[in-house]
Amino acid sequence: MAEGKNREDLKRVYLEEWLHNKIRDEALTDPDFRGFPGGGIPERPTRADVDNYHLFRLRKLLSYASENSSFYRDLFDKNHIRPSDIVSLADLAKIPFTDQADLARNPNRFLCVSHGDIARVTTFTTSGTTGPEKRIYCTDGDIGRIVEFMGAGMRTVTEKEDVVQIMLPSGSTSNQADLLEQGVLKIGAKAIKAGLNLSSEEQLDLIKKHGATVIFGVASPVYRMTQELKGLHALDGLGVKTIFLTSFLADTQREYLRRVWNCDVHSHYGLTEMGLAVAVECHAHDGYHFNEADLLLEIIDPETGRVLGEGEGELVFTTLTRQGTPLIRYRTNDIARLIPEPCPCGAATLRRFGPVKRRLELIVRLSNGRLVYPSLFDEVLYTLTELVDYDLRVTGTGGRERLHFTVETTGQDPDIRDRVRQLLFHEPALRPLFAENTMDEPEITVVPPGGILQMGRAKKKIIDERVM
Ligand SMILES: [Zn+2]
Repeated sequence: MAEGKNREDLKRVYLEEWLHNKIRDEALTDPDFRGFPGGGIPERPTRADVDNYHLFRLRKLLSYASENSSFYRDLFDKNHIRPSDIVSLADLAKIPFTDQADLARNPNRFLCVSHGDIARVTTFTTSGTTGPEKRIYCTDGDIGRIVEFMGAGMRTVTEKEDVVQIMLPSGSTSNQADLLEQGVLKIGAKAIKAGLNLSSEEQLDLIKKHGATVIFGVASPVYRMTQELKGLHALDGLGVKTIFLTSFLADTQREYLRRVWNCDVHSHYGLTEMGLAVAVECHAHDGYHFNEADLLLEIIDPETGRVLGEGEGELVFTTLTRQGTPLIRYRTNDIARLIPEPCPCGAATLRRFGPVKRRLELIVRLSNGRLVYPSLFDEVLYTLTELVDYDLRVTGTGGRERLHFTVETTGQDPDIRDRVRQLLFHEPALRPLFAENTMDEPEITVVPPGGILQMGRAKKKIIDERVM
């Protein structure tokens, strides 16, 4: 028991220890940092040391971007900003935001190195959307830092002895599975790349064959696998200790996975533009710590752009170390809460933010002004223990709208449609939505097991089929 507790202690401080080591390394290897006011090699870094490291990195980044990227050179010129004018972290607010449209419009103008120095190009549209393509260039050094953080994030919730089964799409443009595999190997653990094309039984065979103790994957396929296997196999006795998911997870889903697998469940927040892995939920399960060695975070009011000290707002990141495509004050469109209180995990210098429940790109605004987005329904619908997955469409014209739920369950409960309907109408958070006189009665369609083909879909989204 005592030994188990020590292992927990090791895990809980890992990300913080990693960040402190990065800052000390910086001080050792970069004479400029040693000469920077407040620089030096702190024995036990404080939050002020972390902020100081950020300011040093930020000033370096601003000079680098203005010298090498025509986009930032023009942006700074137009706004009469000289990098040397930024002398505090608060001064960052003088620089205009960069948004996804800027990046999509001309990714080459962000590029700071020659094409010959690029090791990897990621071209993508934000998953689940049909927006314009964005492109991120990474040098070898950029990839090294991404892999290192993936390892550090993994090590925060797992052990060196773990065997990690990676259930991520293989062959995707971002190659998240390959980078994660490298990160896992870096911390001395073992990785099994299972992809998403295997059946649930085949995934289970791999878990047994390699003795997987950690499952890392996209929430929907892992949840589906659980539902397809649970009646047939004793999943709680397999030795899986941690399920680590890449996307938002309703509390009801989390509790369910925890119970069925008899394991801990963590989620992670990632963004392709920021190098995929951004933040990880620690053992306190009360928010995410993020990669503060490479990223600077601001939370802003999405309407006014004002920087918020605490509370809910849009996440805005600055890449402090990126060489290929640096991003300065990049708006993510994702809404989360900045948590000012110290984390119960014991991390004293790491900041944290609350779960990203609303990704702005996934929000559909109804004609009556109400907002609907997947996590609004997840919490309610996943209380049905036989639910495997669901899809949601919105149709309508002339100001009248209707929500269409397609529901896949494990069983043949003849009353399932009524039960879904009851849940939707009785949940206090949803009742007002259906009470609006602009909303037609929701349509609920039940499909047989396997009816919703969506393995590999990264995020649940509401399909908007309205005719305006
Ligand atoms: Zn924590």
